[in-house]
Amino acid sequence: MAMGAVGAVTAERYDAIIVGTGFASSFFLHRLLRDLRPNARVLVLEAGGRHEHAWQLANPRALEKIAARSFINRTPEKPWIVQRAFGGGSNCWWACTPRMLPNDFALRSTYGVATDWPVAYDELEAFYGEAEWLMDVAGPSDDSPFPRSRPYPQPAHRFNEPDALLKRAYPDGFFAQPCARPSRAVPGKRAACCNNGVCDLCPIDSKFTVQNSMAALYRDPRVQLELDARVDRVDLAAGRAEGVVFTRAGREERASGDLVVLGANALSNPHILLRSGDEHSELGRRLHEQVSLKANVLLDGVDNFQGGTSITGHGYMLYDGPHRRRRPAILIETWNVPRLRNERGKWRQLMKLQCIIEQYPNRDSRVEIASEDETRPAVHHAGRGAEVDFAVAALRHELPRLMSKLPVEDVRIADEFKETEAHALGTVVMGRDPATSVVDPHLVHHRIRNLLVLGGSAFPTTPPANPTLTIAALSLFAAEHLLA
Ligand SMILES: Cc1cc2nc3c(=O)[nH]c(=O)nc-3n(C[C@H](O)[C@H](O)[C@H](O)COP(=O)(O)OP(=O)(O)OC[C@H]3O[C@@H](n4cnc5c(N)ncnc54)[C@H](O)[C@@H]3O)c2cc1C
Repeated sequence: MAMGAVGAVTAERYDAIIVGTGFASSFFLHRLLRDLRPNARVLVLEAGGRHEHAWQLANPRALEKIAARSFINRTPEKPWIVQRAFGGGSNCWWACTPRMLPNDFALRSTYGVATDWPVAYDELEAFYGEAEWLMDVAGPSDDSPFPRSRPYPQPAHRFNEPDALLKRAYPDGFFAQPCARPSRAVPGKRAACCNNGVCDLCPIDSKFTVQNSMAALYRDPRVQLELDARVDRVDLAAGRAEGVVFTRAGREERASGDLVVLGANALSNPHILLRSGDEHSELGRRLHEQVSLKANVLLDGVDNFQGGTSITGHGYMLYDGPHRRRRPAILIETWNVPRLRNERGKWRQLMKLQCIIEQYPNRDSRVEIASEDETRPAVHHAGRGAEVDFAVAALRHELPRLMSKLPVEDVRIADEFKETEAHALGTVVMGRDPATSVVDPHLVHHRIRNLLVLGGSAFPTTPPANPTLTIAALSLFAAEHLLA
């Protein structure tokens, strides 16, 4: 099925071919179309189909099942979740949109650990702001942990009562969580967040998705969107990308173009490049994400769950500082998804936390071409890094101390990590040195200069902050550089 101008995919030569319709591709396309001449032609190839919000409501978890078949997990004890559909992960994300902190980009030079990013916070700052406005993010404009040049487009959501106590106790460490779950209706687009805590499939289509806020890009007359078109490889010749080879309805097709842009996530981007014959020793390596531990804080005489959205607060008290020389950063989320205590009179005296821990990438965690089925990536996870244990030890010691500023009966930290954060990152890492990174700071392939690789696959490290706002900002940054 094609949207926009329909044409013979194989006959035409395109100005740009973009792979995927998730955040990475859509924010890039947004910036590209602003400057592209009226008769330009952009082909977008999306492996999944288009599933309207009403269909998703009627078929819960169907998209997750479709996507699970798109790769082979060699280490199933470590699940990875991606989506294969128009809009990619925007269909199921929770819409938490923190920025990274300036020091997150400079771990090696500031704290002597992991690696630095080849871009600095200041270079991305304006693009963060633009991405926040495109997603209608609700956040605390006057009280933010990030240096900001413009306010959030929407006011922050209301705190829970325990959040307000945390803010009083830690005025410089605790903030309202920025999120793309709007606190006010977005005229003509989305209703305000209904605050019922099932954000992976928002019942009223209020959180930002590509489908509800950026679908117009794909109706632009310069854009030809082809769905159910799985890109297999990039056609490489004499150090240039000539186009792509893709499969639709079991048949192989080709499209040629002047620029190829992969935005197919951290499992598919390296797989496509490996199948294209790219033999960079770092390609597919350093797959990683954060890990997290849940905690229950039993409150003494304070009721919870008055907040305005599903996750209301962000505690930075254990995040940045000289301790990062010894152990990774920890971000504390406060949740407003009710779970009740079972003691009479104390039902709501419970605060649920999720403590997200930074993890350094490991070269041995990787994506390869599956030997039994070359059309699918095989994913191998090499286990948690030892640095996580230092962070866990710090959390077990520090969290009760932090919470003791509130009226608290007990702090109970889970023994087991949450299975997954659903953030696949690394695998086509960015850097300045072509020997140790696949793409440059503007996400251009070091050797193939008309090939860009967008998305979380470029992340050399990942702080506890959720990654997608940074993915969107990087796409705007990469497009701006390309057009300049
Ligand atoms: C349950 C859940 C909750 C989440 N919550 C948050 C959150 O609150 N905050 C946050 O920051 N992040 C969150 N994430 C992560 C977020 O979804 C991802 O970071 C984000 O989707 C990555 O964007 P992307 O565009 O790089 O990739 P994707 O969104 O995965 O888009 C990739 C696109 O490429 C397509 N594609 C893949 N392979 C091919 C191919 N071979 N050919 C053609 N097309 C292809 C896919 O179908 C898809 O449309 C969550 C994820 C999950 C699963």
